[in-house]
Amino acid sequence: MPTAVISDIHANLEALHTVLADIESRKVDDIVCLGDIVGYGPNPCECIDLVMQRCKWALMGNHDFAVLYEPTSFNTSAEASAFWTRRQFEIEKDAALRRKRWEYLGSLEIRHTALGGLCVHASPRRPINEYIFPDDVITAPTKMAQIFDRFESRCFVGHTHVTGVFTNEPDFYPPSDLDNGAYKFNATEKCIINPGSVGQPRDRDPRASYAIVHEDRVEFVRVEYDVAAVVAKIKGNPELNDFLGMRLVDGR
Ligand code: ZN
Repeated sequence: MPTAVISDIHANLEALHTVLADIESRKVDDIVCLGDIVGYGPNPCECIDLVMQRCKWALMGNHDFAVLYEPTSFNTSAEASAFWTRRQFEIEKDAALRRKRWEYLGSLEIRHTALGGLCVHASPRRPINEYIFPDDVITAPTKMAQIFDRFESRCFVGHTHVTGVFTNEPDFYPPSDLDNGAYKFNATEKCIINPGSVGQPRDRDPRASYAIVHEDRVEFVRVEYDVAAVVAKIKGNPELNDFLGMRLVDGR
C-alpha cells in the first residue's frame, strides 16, 4: 500500500531527482502525481519523461493544461513560461519521443479514484483551477462546506503548493501541528490532503515536499535539494522570469 504522492513538480528536475531518490530509499509500492508536472521551471521535458517512467498515474494540472491547450488567468511570467515550455516540446527532434510526450500530456486524467478517495489537481468541484487555501477555513466556511460535500471521506489535492491537511471542522493542519508530522485517518472526520509541491513550495520552507499514504495515515516528507542549481538555470534562461528562481530560495 505505501504510495508516494507527489505534486506540482513544475519542471524542477533537481527537486524531482532528489524526491525520487528519497522515495526509493523507503518502502513504497507506487508513486502517483497530482499534476503540474511542467510550467515555471527550466526542465519540462526531462520531468515529463521521469513522471512517465516512474508514476503509476498522473493528473492534469492547470499548467499542464496551459501547455497543451491555453493558459487561463495566468500572470505574465506564468504565461511566458507556458509558451516557452510548449516550444521545448515542439523542438524535440525525435518525432516518436515528441509525440509520446504530447500524448502523455493529453492523457492526464482530471479525476482519479484511488488511495481511499478522490484525487484531483485543484479541488473536487473545479478540479483544474480552484484553490483551497488554509485561510479559507476562517474566511470562506461556506466554500469549504461545499467542497467537502463533493466527496465521501478523503480527497487529495495539490495546486496551492502549501503542505497540510484540511478537516471538515473546517480546520487546517500544517505537518508541524500533527503528531510526528503524520495525519491518522479516522471514521469521524473527512479530510483533504495536500502533499505540497516538489518543485516550488510556497509555505516558506524551500525544501521539496511530498507525502506517503499508508493504510492508516499519511506521512509528510521534506527533502533538501540543490536550489541554487535551479536558480542559476532560470537566471540563464532569458525567457523565464528571474523571480521564478528567486521564489524557490525562500519557498514562496
Ligand atoms: Zn502548481
